[in-house]
Amino acid sequence: MGGVRASEVERTLEKQKYASNLNAYKSVEGENFLDAINWRGMQEIFEGLARKIDPEREKEMHIAGRDDVYFVKGQLAFQRPALRIIELDFDGIRARATKFNNPVLADLYTLKILLHEQAHIATGGEYGFLRGSAEGVWLGEGLDELIAQRLLPEYVRLYGFKNYTVEDVKLFLNRITDEGDLRTYDIACGFIEAVIALFARDYAIPSDNREQVFNGLMRAHFRDADLLSEGYREVFTAVFGKDKMPEIAKAPTARVLLMLLTDSDVLMMRLRDIDAPLAVRLNRLLESPIKDDYK
Ligand SMILES: [Zn+2]
Repeated sequence: MGGVRASEVERTLEKQKYASNLNAYKSVEGENFLDAINWRGMQEIFEGLARKIDPEREKEMHIAGRDDVYFVKGQLAFQRPALRIIELDFDGIRARATKFNNPVLADLYTLKILLHEQAHIATGGEYGFLRGSAEGVWLGEGLDELIAQRLLPEYVRLYGFKNYTVEDVKLFLNRITDEGDLRTYDIACGFIEAVIALFARDYAIPSDNREQVFNGLMRAHFRDADLLSEGYREVFTAVFGKDKMPEIAKAPTARVLLMLLTDSDVLMMRLRDIDAPLAVRLNRLLESPIKDDYK
């Protein structure tokens, strides 16, 4: 497997080059935070997810390791999937986390952001809210945020983090869905949930088995499927009542995505019929001011 090794060496070199050009800063608190993480355990839960979602997957699943995380000012978090590098503005994240008035929630917030970036690397896509021109950016953001929110309690349960409990994680997850500046993610997740709810209904999948639909979407995501290709496009056209995927894929901001999602009375009506809380949540998001300046 000389080719694999050669590409691995190439990647390492490219990685070193990229890292040496980063304007990284030092943070003792940040280093301590990274040291409290069980990196092998983190890799394990991502592998477990990949195995469950796609048992026949051929692509290897990778995440960033302890030494692949750099502290860089700018966006709160950023990732380079090809290099498996994560850039965190650790100080920025901590400043933002003071709103929780709770050091446990602040830590879980930081860990959740790290898992979100790891999900981008694991699924191999280079997604980001401000790079909305990439195809399927919202699906990628929503799915990767949902991955992070699902893996956070699992990670804490299996490997622990500073003696925090799964109950702490539940409290945190309830809290973030109510926080104003996390609403861009709430939209991306709401978008995925709407797709799943409508799809499950249209294809007569029992409501207690929406997990199947979620797994199907995730499988496509893990396989880097082109969500604008024919097969998928048909499905989404059926779900939305018209072919909205090209617009959705290019939505530059979360607000535009939300407007695309809610501009059809038919769609919202269908959603209200099957999932009232979700329809209410999307309407509520539409009425509230949304900041799009998030990672
Ligand atoms: Zn992201």
